Amino acid sequence: MSPRGIPIGRVFGITIDLDYSWFLIMGLIAWALAVGYYPTEFKGWSLGEYWLVGSATALLLFASVLVHELAHSLVARHYGLAVKRITLFLFGGVAQIAAEPTSPMQELWIAAVGPIVSLALGGIFWLLKPLAAGWQPLFALVEYLATLNIILALFNLLPGFPLDGGRVLRAIVWRVSNDYLRATTAASVTGRFFGFLLIFLGVWQALSANLIGGMWIAFIGWFLESAAGSQLQQEMLKHLMGGHKVRDAMDRSFVTAPSHVSLQDLVEMYMLPSNVGYVMLATGDTAVGLATLSGVQEVPREEWAITPARSIMVPLEKLETTDPNTVLWSAFEKMGHDGVNELPVLEGGQVVGVLTREDVVHYLSLLKTLAA
Ligand SMILES: [Zn+2]
Repeated sequence: MSPRGIPIGRVFGITIDLDYSWFLIMGLIAWALAVGYYPTEFKGWSLGEYWLVGSATALLLFASVLVHELAHSLVARHYGLAVKRITLFLFGGVAQIAAEPTSPMQELWIAAVGPIVSLALGGIFWLLKPLAAGWQPLFALVEYLATLNIILALFNLLPGFPLDGGRVLRAIVWRVSNDYLRATTAASVTGRFFGFLLIFLGVWQALSANLIGGMWIAFIGWFLESAAGSQLQQEMLKHLMGGHKVRDAMDRSFVTAPSHVSLQDLVEMYMLPSNVGYVMLATGDTAVGLATLSGVQEVPREEWAITPARSIMVPLEKLETTDPNTVLWSAFEKMGHDGVNELPVLEGGQVVGVLTREDVVHYLSLLKTLAA
Protein backbone atom coordinates (compact mmCIF):
# COMPACT_ATOMS: atom_id res chain seq x y z
CA MET A 1 0.00 0.00 0.00
CA SER A 2 1.45 3.36 -0.90
CA PRO A 3 -0.95 6.23 -0.43
CA ARG A 4 0.28 9.42 -2.01
CA GLY A 5 -1.05 12.91 -1.68
CA ILE A 6 -0.19 16.56 -1.40
CA PRO A 7 3.41 17.32 -0.34
CA ILE A 8 3.44 19.89 2.46
CA GLY A 9 7.15 20.13 3.14
CA ARG A 10 10.37 18.36 3.98
CA VAL A 11 11.78 17.35 7.35
CA PHE A 12 15.35 15.95 7.53
CA GLY A 13 15.20 15.70 3.73
CA ILE A 14 12.08 13.50 3.83
CA THR A 15 8.99 14.66 1.95
CA ILE A 16 5.84 14.86 4.08
CA ASP A 17 2.64 14.08 2.14
CA LEU A 18 -0.99 14.51 3.11
CA ASP A 19 -3.22 11.91 1.50
CA TYR A 20 -6.72 13.14 0.57
CA SER A 21 -8.19 10.83 3.21
CA TRP A 22 -6.21 12.77 5.82
CA PHE A 23 -8.42 15.85 5.41
CA LEU A 24 -11.49 13.70 5.94
CA ILE A 25 -10.24 12.04 9.11
CA MET A 26 -8.78 15.31 10.39
CA GLY A 27 -12.19 16.99 10.06
CA LEU A 28 -13.99 14.02 11.60
CA ILE A 29 -11.69 13.90 14.63
CA ALA A 30 -11.90 17.68 15.22
CA TRP A 31 -15.70 17.50 14.93
CA ALA A 32 -16.04 14.46 17.21
CA LEU A 33 -13.88 16.14 19.86
CA ALA A 34 -15.53 19.58 19.59
CA VAL A 35 -19.14 18.43 19.74
CA GLY A 36 -18.78 15.05 21.49
CA TYR A 37 -15.86 14.32 23.75
CA TYR A 38 -14.93 17.74 25.18
CA PRO A 39 -18.50 19.02 25.85
CA THR A 40 -19.27 15.73 27.66
CA GLU A 41 -16.11 15.73 29.77
CA PHE A 42 -15.75 19.46 30.40
CA LYS A 43 -18.74 21.75 30.95
CA GLY A 44 -18.96 25.48 30.56
CA TRP A 45 -16.51 26.30 27.77
CA SER A 46 -17.57 28.61 24.96
CA LEU A 47 -18.42 27.10 21.56
CA GLY A 48 -15.24 28.68 20.18
CA GLU A 49 -13.14 27.03 22.88
CA TYR A 50 -14.60 23.58 22.10
CA TRP A 51 -13.76 23.97 18.41
CA LEU A 52 -10.37 25.55 19.07
CA VAL A 53 -9.32 22.74 21.39
CA GLY A 54 -10.94 20.08 19.18
CA SER A 55 -9.04 21.26 16.09
CA ALA A 56 -5.78 21.77 17.98
CA THR A 57 -6.05 18.25 19.43
CA ALA A 58 -6.60 16.72 15.97
CA LEU A 59 -3.64 18.62 14.53
CA LEU A 60 -1.32 17.75 17.41
CA LEU A 61 -2.46 14.14 17.21
CA PHE A 62 -1.24 13.97 13.62
CA ALA A 63 1.91 15.85 14.60
CA SER A 64 2.48 13.07 17.18
CA VAL A 65 1.97 10.43 14.46
CA LEU A 66 4.43 12.31 12.28
CA VAL A 67 7.06 12.32 15.06
CA HIS A 68 6.47 8.54 15.46
CA GLU A 69 7.04 7.96 11.72
CA LEU A 70 10.07 10.26 11.71
CA ALA A 71 11.58 8.12 14.46
CA HIS A 72 11.19 4.99 12.26
CA SER A 73 12.64 6.90 9.30
CA LEU A 74 15.70 8.27 11.05
CA VAL A 75 16.66 4.89 12.48
CA ALA A 76 16.13 3.29 9.04
CA ARG A 77 18.38 5.94 7.52
CA HIS A 78 20.94 5.34 10.23
CA TYR A 79 21.14 1.74 8.89
CA GLY A 80 21.56 3.04 5.35
CA LEU A 81 17.98 2.42 4.17
CA ALA A 82 16.67 5.39 2.19
CA VAL A 83 13.37 7.00 3.21
CA LYS A 84 11.67 8.97 0.47
CA ARG A 85 8.46 10.15 2.06
CA ILE A 86 6.13 9.99 5.00
CA THR A 87 2.44 9.99 4.13
CA LEU A 88 -0.27 10.88 6.62
CA PHE A 89 -3.57 9.21 5.75
CA LEU A 90 -6.81 7.76 7.10
CA PHE A 91 -5.17 5.33 9.53
CA GLY A 92 -2.31 7.50 10.72
CA GLY A 93 1.03 7.60 8.99
CA VAL A 94 3.33 5.47 6.90
CA ALA A 95 7.04 5.97 6.22
CA GLN A 96 8.10 4.65 2.82
CA ILE A 97 11.39 2.95 3.50
CA ALA A 98 13.01 1.98 0.19
CA ALA A 99 14.27 -1.46 1.20
CA GLU A 100 13.64 -4.14 3.80
CA PRO A 101 16.06 -4.37 6.74
CA THR A 102 18.91 -6.78 6.14
CA SER A 103 19.29 -8.08 9.70
CA PRO A 104 17.02 -8.86 12.67
CA MET A 105 18.67 -6.15 14.77
CA GLN A 106 17.95 -3.49 12.12
CA GLU A 107 14.35 -4.63 11.88
CA LEU A 108 13.99 -4.64 15.67
CA TRP A 109 15.28 -1.10 16.20
CA ILE A 110 13.53 0.46 13.21
CA ALA A 111 10.23 -0.99 14.46
CA ALA A 112 10.67 -0.50 18.21
CA VAL A 113 11.70 3.15 18.09
CA GLY A 114 8.21 4.24 16.93
CA PRO A 115 6.32 3.06 20.01
CA ILE A 116 9.23 4.11 22.24
CA VAL A 117 8.98 7.67 20.91
CA SER A 118 5.17 7.66 21.26
CA LEU A 119 5.52 6.55 24.87
CA ALA A 120 8.06 9.31 25.46
CA LEU A 121 5.67 11.86 23.89
CA GLY A 122 2.91 10.58 26.15
CA GLY A 123 5.21 11.04 29.13
CA ILE A 124 6.15 14.58 28.08
CA PHE A 125 2.50 15.60 27.70
CA TRP A 126 1.80 13.98 31.06
CA LEU A 127 4.57 16.04 32.71
CA LEU A 128 3.19 19.20 31.09
CA LYS A 129 -0.19 18.73 32.78
CA PRO A 130 0.62 20.76 35.94
CA LEU A 131 1.87 23.65 33.79
CA ALA A 132 -1.43 23.71 31.89
CA ALA A 133 -3.57 23.56 35.01
CA GLY A 134 -4.31 27.31 34.87
CA TRP A 135 -6.63 27.10 31.85
CA GLN A 136 -8.95 24.12 31.67
CA PRO A 137 -9.12 23.82 27.84
CA LEU A 138 -5.31 23.67 27.67
CA PHE A 139 -5.22 21.16 30.49
CA ALA A 140 -7.80 18.99 28.70
CA LEU A 141 -5.79 19.16 25.46
CA VAL A 142 -2.54 18.13 27.15
CA GLU A 143 -4.22 15.32 29.05
CA TYR A 144 -5.89 13.98 25.90
CA LEU A 145 -2.61 14.00 23.95
CA ALA A 146 -0.79 12.25 26.81
CA THR A 147 -3.39 9.46 26.85
CA LEU A 148 -3.62 9.14 23.07
CA ASN A 149 0.14 8.86 22.57
CA ILE A 150 0.32 6.10 25.17
CA ILE A 151 -2.62 4.28 23.51
CA LEU A 152 -0.91 4.74 20.13
CA ALA A 153 2.28 3.17 21.50
CA LEU A 154 0.46 0.22 23.09
CA PHE A 155 -1.73 -0.42 20.03
CA ASN A 156 1.30 -0.37 17.74
CA LEU A 157 3.02 -2.90 19.98
CA LEU A 158 0.37 -5.58 19.23
CA PRO A 159 2.58 -8.35 17.83
CA GLY A 160 1.12 -8.65 14.32
CA PHE A 161 1.85 -7.26 10.87
CA PRO A 162 1.64 -4.49 9.73
CA LEU A 163 1.95 -3.01 13.23
CA ASP A 164 5.34 -2.21 14.75
CA GLY A 165 4.89 -5.04 17.25
CA GLY A 166 4.55 -7.41 14.28
CA ARG A 167 7.91 -6.27 13.01
CA VAL A 168 9.42 -6.72 16.46
CA LEU A 169 7.96 -10.25 16.48
CA ARG A 170 9.41 -10.93 13.03
CA ALA A 171 12.83 -9.67 14.15
CA ILE A 172 12.78 -12.03 17.14
CA VAL A 173 11.61 -15.10 15.19
CA TRP A 174 14.08 -14.23 12.44
CA ARG A 175 16.91 -13.99 14.96
CA VAL A 176 15.99 -17.25 16.69
CA SER A 177 15.14 -19.36 13.61
CA ASN A 178 17.45 -17.67 11.10
CA ASP A 179 14.55 -18.09 8.66
CA TYR A 180 13.18 -14.83 7.24
CA LEU A 181 10.19 -16.35 5.46
CA ARG A 182 9.15 -18.26 8.55
CA ALA A 183 9.43 -15.08 10.64
CA THR A 184 7.34 -13.15 8.10
CA THR A 185 4.72 -15.89 8.08
CA ALA A 186 4.51 -15.85 11.87
CA ALA A 187 4.06 -12.06 12.03
CA SER A 188 1.49 -12.15 9.19
CA VAL A 189 -0.55 -14.89 10.81
CA THR A 190 -0.71 -13.03 14.14
CA GLY A 191 -1.44 -9.82 12.21
CA ARG A 192 -4.44 -11.43 10.52
CA PHE A 193 -5.53 -12.81 13.90
CA PHE A 194 -5.54 -9.31 15.47
CA GLY A 195 -7.28 -7.98 12.36
CA PHE A 196 -10.09 -10.55 12.69
CA LEU A 197 -10.25 -9.94 16.45
CA LEU A 198 -10.76 -6.20 15.89
CA ILE A 199 -13.40 -6.88 13.22
CA PHE A 200 -15.21 -9.15 15.66
CA LEU A 201 -14.94 -6.64 18.56
CA GLY A 202 -16.00 -3.81 16.29
CA VAL A 203 -19.07 -5.57 14.95
CA TRP A 204 -20.02 -6.62 18.48
CA GLN A 205 -19.65 -3.00 19.70
CA ALA A 206 -21.61 -1.70 16.72
CA LEU A 207 -24.48 -4.10 17.37
CA SER A 208 -24.61 -3.63 21.13
CA ALA A 209 -23.97 0.00 21.98
CA ASN A 210 -21.66 2.08 19.89
CA LEU A 211 -22.50 1.96 16.17
CA ILE A 212 -19.98 4.47 14.78
CA GLY A 213 -17.12 3.58 17.13
CA GLY A 214 -17.69 -0.12 16.55
CA MET A 215 -17.73 0.26 12.78
CA TRP A 216 -14.51 2.25 12.98
CA ILE A 217 -12.81 -0.49 15.02
CA ALA A 218 -14.02 -3.12 12.53
CA PHE A 219 -12.72 -0.97 9.68
CA ILE A 220 -9.26 -0.74 11.27
CA GLY A 221 -9.36 -4.52 11.79
CA TRP A 222 -10.22 -5.06 8.15
CA PHE A 223 -7.32 -2.78 7.12
CA LEU A 224 -4.87 -4.71 9.34
CA GLU A 225 -6.11 -8.08 8.14
CA SER A 226 -5.76 -7.23 4.45
CA ALA A 227 -2.37 -5.54 4.92
CA ALA A 228 -1.04 -8.59 6.79
CA GLY A 229 -2.39 -10.86 4.03
CA SER A 230 -0.82 -8.91 1.19
CA GLN A 231 2.48 -8.62 3.05
CA LEU A 232 2.62 -12.40 3.28
CA GLN A 233 1.72 -12.78 -0.39
CA GLN A 234 4.49 -10.39 -1.34
CA GLU A 235 7.05 -12.27 0.75
CA MET A 236 5.96 -15.56 -0.82
CA LEU A 237 6.45 -14.08 -4.30
CA LYS A 238 9.84 -12.76 -3.29
CA HIS A 239 10.79 -16.12 -1.88
CA LEU A 240 9.60 -17.91 -5.02
CA MET A 241 11.65 -15.54 -7.19
CA GLY A 242 14.64 -15.85 -4.86
CA GLY A 243 17.91 -16.42 -6.71
CA HIS A 244 16.37 -15.94 -10.16
CA LYS A 245 17.72 -13.31 -12.47
CA VAL A 246 16.17 -11.11 -15.12
CA ARG A 247 17.79 -13.30 -17.81
CA ASP A 248 15.68 -16.27 -16.67
CA ALA A 249 12.34 -14.59 -17.27
CA MET A 250 13.01 -12.03 -20.03
CA ASP A 251 11.64 -12.31 -23.53
CA ARG A 252 14.58 -12.86 -25.90
CA SER A 253 12.52 -13.09 -29.07
CA PHE A 254 10.96 -9.65 -28.78
CA VAL A 255 9.60 -8.15 -31.98
CA THR A 256 11.75 -5.57 -33.77
CA ALA A 257 10.65 -3.20 -36.52
CA PRO A 258 12.49 -0.52 -38.53
CA SER A 259 11.84 2.87 -36.93
CA HIS A 260 10.63 4.38 -40.21
CA VAL A 261 7.57 2.13 -40.68
CA SER A 262 4.18 3.81 -40.37
CA LEU A 263 1.98 3.25 -37.34
CA GLN A 264 -0.46 1.44 -39.63
CA ASP A 265 2.25 -1.09 -40.59
CA LEU A 266 3.54 -1.26 -37.03
CA VAL A 267 0.13 -2.42 -35.86
CA GLU A 268 -0.81 -4.64 -38.82
CA MET A 269 2.56 -6.21 -39.62
CA TYR A 270 4.24 -6.39 -36.22
CA MET A 271 1.92 -6.05 -33.24
CA LEU A 272 -1.14 -8.01 -34.35
CA PRO A 273 0.61 -10.99 -36.05
CA SER A 274 2.85 -11.50 -33.00
CA ASN A 275 0.17 -10.67 -30.47
CA VAL A 276 2.32 -8.12 -28.63
CA GLY A 277 1.66 -4.67 -27.20
CA TYR A 278 5.18 -3.35 -27.66
CA VAL A 279 7.76 -3.38 -30.45
CA MET A 280 11.44 -2.52 -30.27
CA LEU A 281 12.31 -0.02 -33.00
CA ALA A 282 15.67 -0.23 -34.73
CA THR A 283 17.74 1.84 -37.13
CA GLY A 284 19.78 -0.67 -39.09
CA ASP A 285 20.81 -3.28 -36.54
CA THR A 286 20.72 -0.98 -33.54
CA ALA A 287 17.70 -0.81 -31.24
CA VAL A 288 16.82 2.85 -30.67
CA GLY A 289 13.63 2.81 -28.63
CA LEU A 290 10.34 1.25 -27.71
CA ALA A 291 6.92 1.77 -29.32
CA THR A 292 3.91 0.67 -27.30
CA LEU A 293 0.23 0.20 -28.04
CA SER A 294 -0.66 3.02 -25.66
CA GLY A 295 1.64 5.30 -27.65
CA VAL A 296 -0.09 4.27 -30.90
CA GLN A 297 -3.49 5.00 -29.38
CA GLU A 298 -2.57 8.61 -28.74
CA VAL A 299 -2.44 9.25 -32.50
CA PRO A 300 -5.85 9.54 -34.29
CA ARG A 301 -6.47 6.46 -36.43
CA GLU A 302 -6.76 8.42 -39.71
CA GLU A 303 -3.15 9.62 -39.24
CA TRP A 304 -1.65 6.15 -38.68
CA ALA A 305 -0.76 5.67 -42.35
CA ILE A 306 1.26 8.90 -42.52
CA THR A 307 2.84 8.86 -39.04
CA PRO A 308 6.23 7.12 -38.66
CA ALA A 309 6.58 4.76 -35.71
CA ARG A 310 9.62 6.68 -34.41
CA SER A 311 7.41 9.69 -33.64
CA ILE A 312 5.71 7.80 -30.82
CA MET A 313 8.85 5.97 -29.75
CA VAL A 314 10.37 6.45 -26.30
CA PRO A 315 14.13 6.54 -27.00
CA LEU A 316 16.22 3.91 -25.27
CA GLU A 317 18.17 6.48 -23.26
CA LYS A 318 14.93 7.80 -21.76
CA LEU A 319 13.61 4.35 -20.83
CA GLU A 320 14.05 2.63 -17.51
CA THR A 321 16.23 -0.37 -18.32
CA THR A 322 17.72 -3.33 -16.51
CA ASP A 323 20.46 -5.85 -17.15
CA PRO A 324 20.34 -9.65 -17.41
CA ASN A 325 22.06 -10.21 -14.06
CA THR A 326 19.71 -8.07 -12.00
CA VAL A 327 17.77 -10.00 -9.37
CA LEU A 328 14.31 -10.69 -10.82
CA TRP A 329 12.52 -9.53 -7.69
CA SER A 330 14.15 -6.09 -7.71
CA ALA A 331 13.41 -5.61 -11.43
CA PHE A 332 9.79 -6.56 -10.73
CA GLU A 333 9.63 -4.08 -7.83
CA LYS A 334 11.14 -1.40 -10.03
CA MET A 335 8.38 -1.92 -12.61
CA GLY A 336 5.86 -1.48 -9.82
CA HIS A 337 7.48 1.69 -8.46
CA ASP A 338 7.95 3.32 -11.85
CA GLY A 339 4.58 2.17 -13.19
CA VAL A 340 6.09 0.67 -16.36
CA ASN A 341 4.99 -2.55 -18.03
CA GLU A 342 8.15 -3.40 -19.93
CA LEU A 343 11.84 -3.02 -19.16
CA PRO A 344 14.36 -3.36 -22.01
CA VAL A 345 17.25 -5.55 -20.90
CA LEU A 346 20.63 -4.14 -21.89
CA GLU A 347 23.97 -5.92 -22.02
CA GLY A 348 27.05 -4.09 -23.30
CA GLY A 349 24.85 -1.33 -24.76
CA GLN A 350 22.83 -3.87 -26.80
CA VAL A 351 19.21 -4.79 -26.17
CA VAL A 352 19.26 -8.53 -25.47
CA GLY A 353 15.69 -8.89 -24.23
CA VAL A 354 12.60 -7.25 -22.80
CA LEU A 355 11.12 -8.01 -19.40
CA THR A 356 7.37 -7.47 -19.04
CA ARG A 357 5.08 -7.99 -16.08
CA GLU A 358 3.42 -10.77 -18.05
CA ASP A 359 6.81 -12.48 -18.46
CA VAL A 360 7.35 -12.34 -14.70
CA VAL A 361 3.87 -13.66 -13.93
CA HIS A 362 4.30 -16.44 -16.49
CA TYR A 363 7.69 -17.40 -15.11
CA LEU A 364 6.29 -17.39 -11.58
CA SER A 365 3.48 -19.75 -12.49
CA LEU A 366 6.08 -22.03 -14.05
CA LEU A 367 8.16 -21.97 -10.82
CA LYS A 368 5.04 -22.58 -8.76
CA THR A 369 4.05 -25.60 -10.84
CA LEU A 370 7.57 -27.01 -10.55
CA ALA A 371 7.61 -26.40 -6.79
CA ALA A 372 4.30 -28.20 -6.25
ZN1 LIG B 1 5.14 2.73 13.88
